[in-house]
Amino acid sequence: MMEFVLASNNKKKIAELQAILSEKIPDIKILSLADIGYTEDIEETGTTFEENSLIKASVPAKMGYIGIADDSGLCVDSLNGEPGVYSARYSGGNDEDNIAFLLEKMKNIPDEKRTAHFICCMSCVFPDGTKISVQGRVEGVILREKCGSGGFGYDPVFYYPPYDKTFSLLTAEEKNKISHRAMAISALAKRLEELC
Ligand code: IMP
Repeated sequence: MMEFVLASNNKKKIAELQAILSEKIPDIKILSLADIGYTEDIEETGTTFEENSLIKASVPAKMGYIGIADDSGLCVDSLNGEPGVYSARYSGGNDEDNIAFLLEKMKNIPDEKRTAHFICCMSCVFPDGTKISVQGRVEGVILREKCGSGGFGYDPVFYYPPYDKTFSLLTAEEKNKISHRAMAISALAKRLEELC
């Protein structure tokens, strides 16, 4: 049994990671930070997704476990990659406030320049300091108003052309096939499979 510690207490993230990694590496177990008795908040002080995921994955590694962490966000081309690593705290408010803030900033941006992508960086840090970082990315367009109410974060305004729908209108199953997180987890699984 190979144990990994995801630097998160988000049960959905743990289940998703467990499901995708165990397809490639049988006998894998994903623990949470709470499972190893770590209860403090980890400050995300990095300026890139990779830096932040490495900061988080290093916490379990320093305690002798194999640490895994992800960091993700929305990058809008016409805003030079904003909100980027500040996606969760863009407006200082909640998801609704973040969307309103983003749409206001983009109100004069023409349709053809509203391209954006979600990025997810996943890092794995071993107790001996070995590090692996991979990225997943999905391209879309920011609409002028919300469409749908499913999902979270910027999903209601992130239009995904191949499905002709916003991320909010995708089923969890559909989103899990094409999302930046799914891509990053698969890439990590592949790297770990080569290593283990
Ligand atoms: P986290 O690193 O997964 O916690 O994501 C940081 C922030 O990026 C979230 O709070 C959202 O605002 C945004 N974000 C990341 N992934 C998604 C997604 O799949 N849909 C919508 N927003 C997302």
